[in-house]
Amino acid sequence: MRKIRAATPRCGEVLWTNASALSTREDYLNGDRVRAASVTLFPTGCEHAARGGCTMCGEWAGSNLGNRVCSEFHVAQFAAACAKLLSEEDIRWLRIYVEGSFLNDREIAPEAREVILRMASSFREIRRITIESRPEYITNAQVSSARACTRSSIELEIGIGLEAKNDFIRNICIEKATSLAAYRQAVNVIHANGIVALAYVLLKPPFVSERGAIEEAVESVAYAFEIGFDEVYVQASSIHEWSLSELLMLKGLYSPPWLWSVLEVVKRTAHLGKVKIGGLEYFPPPSKVSQNYQDIDSRLSCSCSEGIWHLIGEYNATHDADLLTKATCACRRIWQSLSMVADTNLPSQISHVLSMISVEEYIRYKHDHSNAPYPCKLH
Ligand code: SF4
Ligand SMILES: [Zn+2]
Repeated sequence: MRKIRAATPRCGEVLWTNASALSTREDYLNGDRVRAASVTLFPTGCEHAARGGCTMCGEWAGSNLGNRVCSEFHVAQFAAACAKLLSEEDIRWLRIYVEGSFLNDREIAPEAREVILRMASSFREIRRITIESRPEYITNAQVSSARACTRSSIELEIGIGLEAKNDFIRNICIEKATSLAAYRQAVNVIHANGIVALAYVLLKPPFVSERGAIEEAVESVAYAFEIGFDEVYVQASSIHEWSLSELLMLKGLYSPPWLWSVLEVVKRTAHLGKVKIGGLEYFPPPSKVSQNYQDIDSRLSCSCSEGIWHLIGEYNATHDADLLTKATCACRRIWQSLSMVADTNLPSQISHVLSMISVEEYIRYKHDHSNAPYPCKLH
């Protein structure tokens, strides 16, 4: 991952007049269907990614490659995004992303964080603001200061990438470099400050089979609720440029999960608490997302995929799990046969996969084929 980060090219010019990403959608908030907006500010670049970071993550490619973006730029960019959202009068939920940790002073300056949260709080009838952070930056000082900058009538939510309960999957397959104790501690600090704790669980980390991924995600969602998280997003993994997942996919050694797997995890966990489905909202956007496949070998998307993503959107806006039972397609039988295959020995599976890849070959390919049609196979 360190070699991939070092080879990642700088992104094009970024202007303060536009957020790096800005989108709105329908969402479910405390019993109501509401309009929610997401604003991504030009990321400094996640400090963990600078050290190599998570194997599925390509957000470094849209960042300032670790050079801290100045306060003025972040504040101006956020103000410009707010101006664009003014025409959307009924925004009730605002998510603010830096594709890293909003509570890390080295990724966003404290004064910018304060102004941005105060500005976000001034939105008429806003009910919730969501930010994200790795657990090590969730200290009482950072969290209480963020809470103090947010109007008291607004729910503040902090999202944390738990990804997987299993230490081997989280720290070897994903390279998250976190301990479970750190998440428990973070949830305690968040709750002590009257804030909502959100966990992201990754469905199908690199190296893990479809069946292994489903079982791990189900256990991870249950664990997240057990240690006190208030809400969980099941993040259907996707492919991002300049990541190990992309390298593996190009070699035919990895693909995002079937949508049937996503539905299966939610069906088995929705009774435990508030569970949403994610996997689309990243900057830069993913080049390939979870889908159903026509058959195992071709990796072509089945025509049911679009309709199922629409159902997922409706589920996220209503939390009506019955909606997910409405999905039907003949490809489900292919998925059922595939998902019977379990992981027998992950360490040897990883060694086997690593023996078939070359990071240098991938980097050469990326530099030579920056405009190649997608997806392409390495030879
Ligand atoms: S997934 Fe999050 S913690 Fe991991 S490298 Fe990406 S931004 Fe950093
Ligand atoms: Zn299908």
